[in-house]
Amino acid sequence: MNAPIDDNTPSKPTNFLRGIIDRDLEQGTYASRRWAGSPGDAAHHEAGQPDPAKIRTRFPPEPNGYLHVGHAKSICLNFGLARDYGGVCHMRFDDTNPEKEEQEYVDSILDAVKWLGFGWESNFNGKAESHLYYASNYFDFMYEAAEALITAGLAYVDEQTPEEMRANRGDFSTPGKDSPFRSRAAKENLARFREMRDGKHPDGSMVLRAKIDMASPNINMRDPAIYRIRRATHHNTGDKWCIYPMYTFAHPIEDALEQITHSICTLEFEDQRPFYDWLVDNLAKLGLLKHPNPKQYEFARLNLTYVITSKRKLKQLVDEKVVEGWDDPRMPTIVGLRRRGYTPEAIQLFCERIGVSKADSWIDYSTLDIALRDDLENKAHRGMAVLDPVKLVLTNWDEVMGTGHLEPCALPALPHPPEGTESPVRHFKLGREVWIEREDFEEVPPKGYKRLFPGNKVRLKGGYVIECTGCNKDADGRVTEVLATVVPDTKSGTPGADSVKVKAAITWVGVADGVEAEVRLYDRLFTDPHPDAGGKDFKASLNPDSKKVMKAYVEPSLAQAVPDQKFQFERFGYFVADRKDHQAGKPVFNKITGLKDSWK
Ligand code: ATP
Ligand code: MG
Repeated sequence: MNAPIDDNTPSKPTNFLRGIIDRDLEQGTYASRRWAGSPGDAAHHEAGQPDPAKIRTRFPPEPNGYLHVGHAKSICLNFGLARDYGGVCHMRFDDTNPEKEEQEYVDSILDAVKWLGFGWESNFNGKAESHLYYASNYFDFMYEAAEALITAGLAYVDEQTPEEMRANRGDFSTPGKDSPFRSRAAKENLARFREMRDGKHPDGSMVLRAKIDMASPNINMRDPAIYRIRRATHHNTGDKWCIYPMYTFAHPIEDALEQITHSICTLEFEDQRPFYDWLVDNLAKLGLLKHPNPKQYEFARLNLTYVITSKRKLKQLVDEKVVEGWDDPRMPTIVGLRRRGYTPEAIQLFCERIGVSKADSWIDYSTLDIALRDDLENKAHRGMAVLDPVKLVLTNWDEVMGTGHLEPCALPALPHPPEGTESPVRHFKLGREVWIEREDFEEVPPKGYKRLFPGNKVRLKGGYVIECTGCNKDADGRVTEVLATVVPDTKSGTPGADSVKVKAAITWVGVADGVEAEVRLYDRLFTDPHPDAGGKDFKASLNPDSKKVMKAYVEPSLAQAVPDQKFQFERFGYFVADRKDHQAGKPVFNKITGLKDSWK
């Protein structure tokens, strides 16, 4: 892991990708590129005009689930590079797998990218462009490309069964065997491929394969499938097609059509790179694509301890109702993190700090929480909440202060307000009865205990010094009320003055003006730091205590929260007013994280 960088670091930390981009810009690798406008839209093309976008990256999710924190790394990287180099990043859906894809996922992905602080609009010389694309918009082109490969003798229709195909592919130590259909004439392949398109053959009965080398040491080069028959309704193209391109075929074409310069993906695609190059090269030779080709670069995916970053597995948690939906605050999805209270700024900061490399590693979850604290420390208003309440009765209140008196108290909402500004002030009231934390009273104090026990004095934070006199209990011996008296100031004789010295100040909420709140305490979803490593059953390490709901009391300023507003509950950590369930008068808070690291 990279050392944390100071928020004020003027320049971004460098990485190998920036090195590559710097070199390409210096050498003018993509200088011949022309402003292409919308891909495939010839009318948009203004020949002769230099491309004002220095680089083009893309973020290409498949709309088959909600994005997670791993995608956040890819988003920050791709959109971040485009932003820093004055280029553009294309938002593109890799929607080549109709059975698993849905409009709901498309919408949620767009929403997540925007929420993280990025966009796909560019504006060069007053010309605004939206760079939102769908692989499915290129299906016609992809089909043409497939026919061109067939005609050039670079692709063939294979009618082996899937089992035969698998057996003949060979493995790492055995070269593959040519299919009996491999030497079929181009004309025949073309006819058969058109039959595939026209729905003349059942699903799975044949595929179109690139004709490369069945003996290649790289199994991905052993005549990979590029088109398959699949009768499925597509979220974008409906029932127009019954054949769909394979991802590995579609992706390089999408990049090339959009004139992507740096196609950045995770390491598992490294072995696909030779096919990527083979394809864009051959299509360029056939006149279907233009040089210079986009180039693929791989980086190490984000692995975060105690977290699974696989859409498929996260979908399983949702489908099996292990969690309460994609946006459950325990989920590492962007919507989950958002609902939990993580801010876009914290996630961006986290992504900057973890950096980008080619070496696989695990990032400690605390890195994300540290970024959150660093973001909220000087932004989140402070407030007092009592999460495990017991009533404290000030038995001499009526006598000293007057029956029913409520004493106004105030504290700053921000201990370190931005320079040149003053902190907003929170107002609350002290009366005869207040809520305190159950753990702040001990009838028989353990050694070193400084809070309430008979005979001990403490300060009610922002209020008066009190002296504990005892407690009332129920039949089971459980404390029902803690008893104390207000201690008048030794010099002035009035309560609340400061000359009485005490060793502790405790948090509290007035019974008169405190508001009942639901507070949801979240903990890690898994007890294993590497829940699914090595194919482990991640459901075996589910944390049974990952959610605890408390009936709490909060001070008035917290009860006035608007949904999504973040606070620091004094002594407990950072909390957010739940975006879905919080209402005026019926507060609901989620714990984001504690004040100190609890992950190690
Ligand atoms: P999953 O395996 O969770 O379904 P995916 O890789 O199949 O994820 P895509 O929708 O294809 O999901 O991902 C879009 C982009 O996000 C890809 O370029 C992919 O490399 C990147 N990405 C996915 N997971 C991570 C991760 N954990 N860390 C960094 N980048 C990731
Ligand atoms: Mg993947």
